Amino acid sequence: MGNEQEFQELLQHVGLEREEISQRLRFLDWSAADVEQLSRHSATLLPAHSDFLDHLYQRLGEFPATAAIVNDPATITRLKHSQSDYYQRLWNGPYDQSYVLNRLRIGWVHQKIGVDLKWYLGAYRLYLQEMLDGLLGEHPACAGFASLLKAVFFDIGLALDTYSAAQRKALESSEARFARALRGANDGLWDWHVDHDQLYLSERWASMLDLHRDQLGNGSAGWFARVHPDDLGGLRRAIDAHLQGGTASLHHEYRIRRQSGSYLWVLVRGVAEQVAEGQRRMAGSQTDISQRRAVQEQLQHAARHDPLTGLANRERLSELLSLALQRQGRAGAREAALLFIDLDRFKLINDSLGHHIGDHVLVEVARRLGHCLRPGDHLIRFGGDEFVVLLDDLACSADAERVAQRMLDSLLPPLQVQEHQLMVSISIGIATLSEENAGLDSLQAADLALYRAKAAGKAQFARYSSEMQAQAQHQLELQGALSRALARDEFSLVYQPICKVDQEQPSVVAVEALLRWQHKGRTVSPLEFIPCLEESGGILAVGDWVLRQACAQVRHWQLAGQPALRCSVNLSSRQLQQSDFAARVADILRASGLPPASLVLEITESQLMEDSAQTLSCLRELASLGIQLALDDFGTGYSSLGYLKRFPLHILKVDKSFISGPSANGDSQLISRAIIGLGLSLGLEVVAEGVERSEHLDFLRAEGCRLAQGYWFSRPRAPAELERLFGGEDGFEGLDARLPPRLDPAPSLP
Ligand code: C2E
Ligand code: MG
Ligand code: MG
Repeated sequence: MGNEQEFQELLQHVGLEREEISQRLRFLDWSAADVEQLSRHSATLLPAHSDFLDHLYQRLGEFPATAAIVNDPATITRLKHSQSDYYQRLWNGPYDQSYVLNRLRIGWVHQKIGVDLKWYLGAYRLYLQEMLDGLLGEHPACAGFASLLKAVFFDIGLALDTYSAAQRKALESSEARFARALRGANDGLWDWHVDHDQLYLSERWASMLDLHRDQLGNGSAGWFARVHPDDLGGLRRAIDAHLQGGTASLHHEYRIRRQSGSYLWVLVRGVAEQVAEGQRRMAGSQTDISQRRAVQEQLQHAARHDPLTGLANRERLSELLSLALQRQGRAGAREAALLFIDLDRFKLINDSLGHHIGDHVLVEVARRLGHCLRPGDHLIRFGGDEFVVLLDDLACSADAERVAQRMLDSLLPPLQVQEHQLMVSISIGIATLSEENAGLDSLQAADLALYRAKAAGKAQFARYSSEMQAQAQHQLELQGALSRALARDEFSLVYQPICKVDQEQPSVVAVEALLRWQHKGRTVSPLEFIPCLEESGGILAVGDWVLRQACAQVRHWQLAGQPALRCSVNLSSRQLQQSDFAARVADILRASGLPPASLVLEITESQLMEDSAQTLSCLRELASLGIQLALDDFGTGYSSLGYLKRFPLHILKVDKSFISGPSANGDSQLISRAIIGLGLSLGLEVVAEGVERSEHLDFLRAEGCRLAQGYWFSRPRAPAELERLFGGEDGFEGLDARLPPRLDPAPSLP
């Protein structure tokens, strides 16, 4: 059985098959007769063999190449001995498998010890000649046949040379192809005898790491020692999984340390093979994938960062938040908070100076905010002019307020963007991550707090509280109710007289229409619901309704005996931003028959600021229709002289806080005096609001203010109530004596 295995292996090594051997014998016409012939002559010829062997070794000794191999007498004796055995077998058989095995074995050994084929063949020629002589003796044809043998053996040698040369060439070119392919792939190669831990690494494998092969040793330790500590476990698991048959091949990406100490991303591929019982070998390639990885990382980074500021974006915030929440869930976790930040009036910068400047502002703001943070904190650009800060690991929740204050302070120095010096402020909403936020997530809670900070006047922070949530809920309900109010006829208008006071008896020259909402049995103040309508956009429909209603009412009064009565209507900025607003007002005037000069539209400074370009063109259009424009609540906003000059205004209304407000004192008298003087000098009509007492009236008269409005004359009244004032049934409310108000004499109706 052992022989059988060796036979198989030898056949495989030589590249022979049994069928091939039988075919050769058939071609040689080998038959039983040959066996018989040989055995018949063997006895006669065997003695001639020792002569032949002497001859042979003498001849071999004459050529340096062979003399070097057969140079010692003991070897020669041993070889002669084994050759005698062979000749015995050649002549007597048996010619079976062991015969073939023996021949292959000997040929194999000869080529291994370096006996060239030419000597081998030459020896056969000598052998045949001597056997011929032995068989035929002094036959006349012998000399001729001997010469033929020499020529034929010479030819056989040459033929073998050409065949083997062709084979060698084919092998060389396929090896060259293989080598070229490997060079082209630019991969490193490795071959690892797993159980003996012998590792072969190609020169390219090493040079990828700027190393030489010999710097890496012969075992796997040299390889694994260079693997990134974070990746080593993964690589080992991938190798084990493949060795245990869990994967069809090894295919794994990891980082490996270069000579310089930096890491290179590589892809290792390989397959394992069982070479013998308990002997596993694994081989494969290693590819430098650092470029692909870099591109991948860039893409990943781009998907999670904002290109303008380089800050993390919303995508990344979600990841950061869920990590922070996980941490919060653990015992002993410290406080964490979210800051929701929004730039105040950023739209103004974008609209007036352009998006390019706006972008610069965002970058600079991001930079300043970033300086207020500690290393573990995160600043995220949430979108537009909104930022979010995640403060992790706070000692106490008040620390979040400290950071917020630092951020507010960081924006106090003006921003220099190109030639512009800009004052920028932010509003901040704060919510903690751990607290129960009544069903809101912390981002929504911080957003709600931000809304509150904005509503409270901007440039400040507000912390989320549960009553904020209740208020937001209330706001939501209010919005729902308001959206149905118009259809349910829940709105009404009251009117407050505006009086001419530069005469002994003040007289009503105009009325201001003020909106009221009857909701759940109570009259809701416009201060409460107008912001809500503005936010929902409902103000557009309601505003139209107010205008139509007021114009019709005042026109009715004009026709009923107050021909010069003017009608003041308050506007919201959303209304002014409608491009067809002026045309709609013109329609309403036409429908009511009220002359444009009888209509006063009141706007506040903050409305002028909202969208100056659109607002300006709308106001110009209204003014060109002959409508009067009033600046309401002057003094409470920016009180910018710029507005007074830039917009086509006719009337200035001094805010009531300067006349009768809780802080109306010496200073506010000075201010109202200045405002009145300013308005008059600009040729504007000045109306003082909030006149509640006779002293107020005296003051206004002394300052030359001709028009006034306030509780001293009348609270806002329903139309029928107001008519009592027109009709003289009621006097002004603040007059001690119930004198009938004097109404201006009625000139002709317009
Ligand atoms: P406003 O335009 O400045 O209106 C004057 C406000 O001052 C009115 O409050 C009025 O009742 C109040 N007032 C009048 N005289 C006195 C006084 O002597 N002392 C005091 N303390 N207050 C006085 P009201 O009606 O609550 O309206 C508040 C604001 O709501 C208005 O301020 C106006 O800005 C807005 N508003 C009212 N109606 C409308 C409307 O139809 N559309 C728009 N967009 N806003 C409106
Ligand atoms: Mg007003
Ligand atoms: Mg006002």
